[in-house]
Amino acid sequence: MTMRRPFIAGNWKMHCTRNEAMNLVNDIADAIGANPPADVAVAPPFLAIALVVEQARTTPIDVGAQNCYFEKKGAFTGEVSLDMLKDVGATFALVGHSERRHVFGETDELIHKKMDAVLTEGLMPILCIGEKLDERDGGKTLEVVKHQLSTAFEGMGAEQALRTTIAYEPVWAIGTGRNATPGQAQEVHKFIREWLTERFGDAAERVRIQYGGSVNPGNARELLSQPDVDGALVGGASLKADTFAAIVAAAEQ
Ligand code: PEP
Repeated sequence: MTMRRPFIAGNWKMHCTRNEAMNLVNDIADAIGANPPADVAVAPPFLAIALVVEQARTTPIDVGAQNCYFEKKGAFTGEVSLDMLKDVGATFALVGHSERRHVFGETDELIHKKMDAVLTEGLMPILCIGEKLDERDGGKTLEVVKHQLSTAFEGMGAEQALRTTIAYEPVWAIGTGRNATPGQAQEVHKFIREWLTERFGDAAERVRIQYGGSVNPGNARELLSQPDVDGALVGGASLKADTFAAIVAAAEQ
């Protein structure tokens, strides 16, 4: 019996005007009901966060951001600080999503600074890690994941690890419709858990590790039934209330 409650989060990416976001969160709230079998969260675009927080106030849905900057304030044109996110009621931030790493060129060093800032400001990071296709084909998956983990958590202890969610998202499975098999996911999740245990001891048993990459209502149950898969980070399928709610329902094992 695991002590980890499943955690399903939706990453809306660059989708939804405020009106669309309001309708989507209301529809998700209706579809999952008051007592879903998992913790549920959504990450709308920055401009919709305040409104979605307001709409979600009486629901079990947590609301966070897809990104943030690590500096407190200043001449950082186009960036959003953690104070600004806290001001509108965000409770978590994705850090190092593969699109941030590979479309916008974020480095492991920048991702570490963001992790540190999110934790220092009292929000929960969802640290996204995962290998690219050529890295998987070259047999480098575990090496890449280990490097991403050790740079992100550099200098941190169990206290920080316990306030973090990790999302393992193989880059080749994001938005491609090609998801990892439950066995492939479990292999890497187990490796991540072992790394956490080596580094943080018993705390590792309480850190949730989500799987992400083309999760849908058809594959969610089997992925979520793997012993070290504690939830899902969902992109495309989180943009429709019925498919997202079906993934939440699949967390009931
Ligand atoms: C994601 O954006 O984190 C993701 C997993 O996307 P998708 O579910 O669309 O593959």
